[in-house]
Amino acid sequence: MVNLDDINKYRIYLQYLNKKLGEYFEEQSPYIFCKAGCSSCCEKGEYPFTEVEFTYLMLGVRTLDKDTFQKIEQNMIKIKKDKEACNNKKFLHACPFLINKKCSVYDFRGIICRSHGLAFFSKDEHVLVPACVDEGLNYSNVYDFDTKTISSEKYKQTGIKQEPLAHNVGVYYLTNNEITKTLELDFGEIKPMYEWFIHQINI
Ligand code: SF4
Ligand code: SF4
Repeated sequence: MVNLDDINKYRIYLQYLNKKLGEYFEEQSPYIFCKAGCSSCCEKGEYPFTEVEFTYLMLGVRTLDKDTFQKIEQNMIKIKKDKEACNNKKFLHACPFLINKKCSVYDFRGIICRSHGLAFFSKDEHVLVPACVDEGLNYSNVYDFDTKTISSEKYKQTGIKQEPLAHNVGVYYLTNNEITKTLELDFGEIKPMYEWFIHQINI
């Protein structure tokens, strides 16, 4: 069970994390095409959240006006129906907090939401790029769509000084590293956001 102490530690951790991720985004800016209104990354996913992150997100939900909350509830009703109709184990869906292509809980969003857009390492240490590369967005200027890898040849052709680099921004690492251990911040269980949220609302 998450308590106030956990939330306070998480707030401290977020200050560190936002700074670190900000540095990565700045470094990788020649390959990043995120802009306001671009929301594909919030339209199809599982959104793994730890218990601490989800508890913090719910603090943000409590600040929302009634109209916005009703829209989120409507989104959840649709997601619930889609999930029931879906036979696949891996259920991908639009985030219920995405309203008019904007995050309604932006300041309270999860860690995965903060790191999304950067190239990252898979569990077996391969460099992966965000799915929006297929829409001509992040890293598409250096991506080889045949080999599905960042192409050093394409990179050389861009003339950009900064190399396209992956960082260790997987949610498992970002919730379990030297800083979280120093803070004694235990994030708790991790599961898809839908599974946390469905138990919080009466639909
Ligand atoms: S990560 Fe991709 S889809 Fe998401 S805001 Fe950035 S460019 Fe758009
Ligand atoms: S919480 Fe916000 S940023 Fe995160 S997936 Fe949902 S809409 Fe996107």
